[in-house]
Parts: sequence; C-alpha cells; structure tokens
Amino acid sequence: MKIGVDLGGHTILAASVREAERGRAPTIERSVTMATPKDRSISDVTGAIGRAVADLASIGGVKSVGVAVPGMVDLGRRRARRLPNFPLEWDDVDVSEALSAELRAHGLNLPVSIENDANCAALGEGIAGEAIGMENFVVITMGTGIGCGIIIGGHLVTGAHGMAAEAGHVVTGGENPCGCGGMGHAETIAAADGVTKRALSAGLPGDFKDLWKLRGEASADEVIDAMIDAMARTIATITHMLDPEAIIVGGGMSRAPGLAEAMSERAVRYLSRPFKNILDVRASKLGNDAAIYGAAEI
Ligand SMILES: [Zn+2]
Repeated sequence: MKIGVDLGGHTILAASVREAERGRAPTIERSVTMATPKDRSISDVTGAIGRAVADLASIGGVKSVGVAVPGMVDLGRRRARRLPNFPLEWDDVDVSEALSAELRAHGLNLPVSIENDANCAALGEGIAGEAIGMENFVVITMGTGIGCGIIIGGHLVTGAHGMAAEAGHVVTGGENPCGCGGMGHAETIAAADGVTKRALSAGLPGDFKDLWKLRGEASADEVIDAMIDAMARTIATITHMLDPEAIIVGGGMSRAPGLAEAMSERAVRYLSRPFKNILDVRASKLGNDAAIYGAAEI
C-alpha cells in the first residue's frame, strides 16, 4: 500500500492506494478530504497532511508517501521551488523533510517524495486512467491555472531544471500579462481565473460551469470562444512538438460536457495536414483521483 496526497489551494485529498498487481490497475482503498488550512503556512499544511497520512497508515503495510504540489519543484523532487498560490515561505523549502519530521512525530518512518501536481495527474492517467498502455501522451489540467504533464517513451519529461511541460505558458498571442511574469500566455485567456475575469467584466456569470451553460449565446460565446481558441493553439503546438498518442484534459473545467471535443475541433484548424487525422483529445475520467494515483507512484 502507498499513500498519495494532492495538495490544493482549497482542498487536501489523501488516499491509500493498493498497488497494481497481475495486470490489474491500482485501486484507491480509502480517501480523506480536508480543507487546506486558511493561512496555507508550512506548519499548518504539513500538520494537516501528517494527520491525514497517520490516519490512513493506521491499517499498517504502508510503504511510502507521495505528495502532488501545485507548483514548481526542484530536480531532486524534495524541495518546492515556487508554489504560486502559497506563501513565499514555501520557496525552496525541503517539503519532503518537513513532512517526514511531521510523520515521525506520529511514529511513522516513511519515505516522502513530492512532484508537481499536473505531472502526478499525467502519471496517474498512465497508471489508472485514459492513457493506460500509452508510452507517449500529454495531460493538461484546466482549473485555476493550466497545468501539464508530458510522458515520452514511458517517462515523465522534467527538463534540465525540473520545470518542463508548462503548457499554460505557451505563447498564444496578445500581450496580456501573465501571473508568471511573462505575457501573451494561454493561461491568461483559458484558465478559470482569466475566464472569470473576462466573464464578469462582460456581465456574465463568473463561475465557469454556469458560463458554459450559456454556450450558444453571443455574449457568452465571445469569452468561451477565446478560451477554446487559446487551448486549441496550445494543443496544436504540443501536437506539432511531441506527436503524442493522445492529449488528456483533466482538472475542474474539463468536466464541462463537450469541452474536450470543442477544443479538438478547433485545434484541427491549426494543425499541419499529417496531424489533422491523428489528433486524439480526451476528457479525463479519473478527475481529481488522477493526481492521487500518480502521487502514490512517485
Ligand atoms: Zn505565464
């Protein structure tokens, strides 16, 4: 048994995962959900994760703990480099050691690894989701921000500095300043925060679920179309660069019915002819569990 934890800005999800055996995909045995401590401080967050892990590990037989974190991690997969929606005190903190110390206080001596949450989602889709059996695929998570994990030749692509696969920051045009410090990035138009801002300023509902229901109405379509177009450009760029077997779309926004199809149809416009017929964009069926499966596996 392994434990996977998904640390989000609002929710912490932790689960014990039974490993794959005899060709069977791994299964989530038990899960615990809790609100992320309001101040998002290291001590409160690691304390909350420690309690959840201790609870899940009380059955015994747990071998390791993996934590999916919302941001950039170092090459050694121990330190958080920057978690954009968390206090600056997390910068360059050895999260693995901080959590190990917390677990020792609960009498648990378990190895702890961390990984970027979208990378965990990609690993999870490969183990238990839409990408089972695939060697080359990309997972894009659409939520507050846009995350991405790339698997090539069966391995997670981390890059020279550990920061590869930032699909949210593909340059799709324009000069909108991005929260990352760059400009003209897909995330400024297509992530939930950007969509909400544009929808509210057009007098539309700020919640993406409600906005999506208004699809077909001219005022809503303007915002929705800009989002679909930015994602289509991103998907086309990824496809031209990596020639993946499939691109799997997860994250909160991916639950909008027909979103993956709409992005795929638009992306075909941007693709070079040999790629048009092979594009395979799918909505994730694992949802939030993808990152848990991946985190348990790191
Ligand atoms: Zn950016």
